[in-house]
Amino acid sequence: MAASSEDLGRDPARAVIERWLRLSAAAVRERRAWLTDLDAAIGDADHGINLDRGLAAVVMDLDAASPTDAPATADELLVAAGRRILGRVGGASGALYGRALIRAGERLARSAWGTAAAADGFAAALDAVVALGHAQRGDKTLVDALAPALDALRDAEPGAPVAQVLASAADAAEAGAESTIPMIARRGRASYLGERSTGHLDPGAASTALLVRCLADAVDAERR
Ligand code: ADP
Ligand code: MG
Repeated sequence: MAASSEDLGRDPARAVIERWLRLSAAAVRERRAWLTDLDAAIGDADHGINLDRGLAAVVMDLDAASPTDAPATADELLVAAGRRILGRVGGASGALYGRALIRAGERLARSAWGTAAAADGFAAALDAVVALGHAQRGDKTLVDALAPALDALRDAEPGAPVAQVLASAADAAEAGAESTIPMIARRGRASYLGERSTGHLDPGAASTALLVRCLADAVDAERR
């Protein structure tokens, strides 16, 4: 059943996810050159361009949708965004981020909004990434940012405000991304470099940390 525009406005999870997608698109646009430079060092210099293309298409969909045909719920919005990214972004990150969003959306279809739902969504995203790319922690990929963010959500104090919990998850993702600098890449293009991949921040871990920070900011903004 299509929701009315009033219903859309009252769904806090949907508002958070729409704000998150828009903030993420803006943040990636702003840091597109930086992400691409990171990929130039250990990959093929397209990571910022790839993510920017996908998220710009997601925002175009949001802008074009009328209240009656827009995805009505947070989970539908995530699935639609994931499908758009899968269709628009070539390379590893298009498949990984696209599948991660789709699986997170599918998992959230059965959840109420809160820290537990966020943890479920992150777990589904991580499962999708690992199923597709077979990376473990320490392989110098976006898993090194996503997995610590999930840990932070699972370790949250019961009853802690979700904005505070997501800020801790963003801190953990940023620390996890930093931790990729000394690592030797074992998955993705950077692995072709072997030991020469050390000393560089992994571009996908950097973009994952950026996206988790945007989610924390979106939750914070929506609760005001
Ligand atoms: P491509 O490598 O196809 O050019 P991108 O440059 O957009 O794609 O994305 C590269 C990022 O994708 C890497 O920095 C890494 O974080 C992530 N990545 C690549 N392969 C894998 C994998 N097998 N598992 C998890 N993440 C991966
Ligand atoms: Mg690349």
